[in-house]
Amino acid sequence: MGRPLRPRGKLLQEDARRHHRSLLLQQLFREGPASRADLARSSGLTRVTVSDLVGEMLAEGFLAELGAPAETRVGKPPTLVGLAPDSHHIIGLDLSETDRMSGAVVNLAGTVQARHEVHVDGAEGEQAVELVLGLAAQLMTMTDRPVLGVGVGSPGVVDAAGTVVDAPNLAWTDTPLAARLAEALHVPVFVANDANTAVLGEHTFGESGDGGLMVLRVGTGVGAGLVLGGSLLHGHLGAAGEIGHVVVDPAGERCACSRTGCLETLLAAPRLRRRVAEPGADGPAVLAEVGTRLGEVLAPVVAALNLHEIVLSGPAELLDGPLLDAADRTIRERTMPISSTGLAVRTSKLGEDVVVVGAAVLVLAGELGVS
Ligand SMILES: [Zn+2]
Repeated sequence: MGRPLRPRGKLLQEDARRHHRSLLLQQLFREGPASRADLARSSGLTRVTVSDLVGEMLAEGFLAELGAPAETRVGKPPTLVGLAPDSHHIIGLDLSETDRMSGAVVNLAGTVQARHEVHVDGAEGEQAVELVLGLAAQLMTMTDRPVLGVGVGSPGVVDAAGTVVDAPNLAWTDTPLAARLAEALHVPVFVANDANTAVLGEHTFGESGDGGLMVLRVGTGVGAGLVLGGSLLHGHLGAAGEIGHVVVDPAGERCACSRTGCLETLLAAPRLRRRVAEPGADGPAVLAEVGTRLGEVLAPVVAALNLHEIVLSGPAELLDGPLLDAADRTIRERTMPISSTGLAVRTSKLGEDVVVVGAAVLVLAGELGVS
């Protein structure tokens, strides 16, 4: 289905209006409340245009008038406007766990308002799609606010239209997940790979900067998402961040990708848990050894990209301790000071919410142009 034919001039006007709205929203989203005059100054738009757009967004509820700033001394104080975080809610879903699908109602400021989850119980293919539909529908009943859209972090490779090209764990191949959800729920739907979703969550709501961020997701599998220069890195075929399938031990265990000794065979949460729990195992030593291997894989990436932050996301009892310390130390030992001096290696402050919050960012970016 193509875009309906419209007079070109009108289309350009609408595009410009949408762009100007997102400029103002982005400013308020990132910097907090501002007066109309401030907004005109920072956006470069005329005061008439700003007043017009602010009026429209006040009427829609996205913005609220907040009164005058306390420090104003003389003259009529300007009224501040700010984002109204609970004017609309977003449904965020995390499909990255093997045993359950979890979701949350998230407000426009990235705060979780309600949660729900369903057990997967081996559901695959169409059955798994039905589970996602049920979970999203249930969450939509858990808010009394208008729902701006549904965002989904899915395992596997996901294309720009929200079709899951390949997710072996759920037996999805070319599954049009976004289209199915949009058809059933009548709201905009955005689907992306779970590691990419996580890095968006961390970038927008995890107190990270714009200096180059990698989020390494450790769960059933291992994958990474990268934000460079403020933009999500997709790579040539959309497979950027597939660092879990770099071979680190050719004599190692068989991997889900059918090769042997991938990083994932050492670092995936179920395998790591099993090794730490083996009788006689020295848990901290096992974790430190795996952290060292991880650092060996990450060092050339850090050197090539001059990253600012590496965030490990997954079970804290495995990641936050000897594993993180060893990875951090190994990266520093193997790179020049210029690469490692400004580097922070840490866990996510968002914890396990990083994917549902990132799923909300998909909707914020897609519908409001903010991130
Ligand atoms: Zn592999």
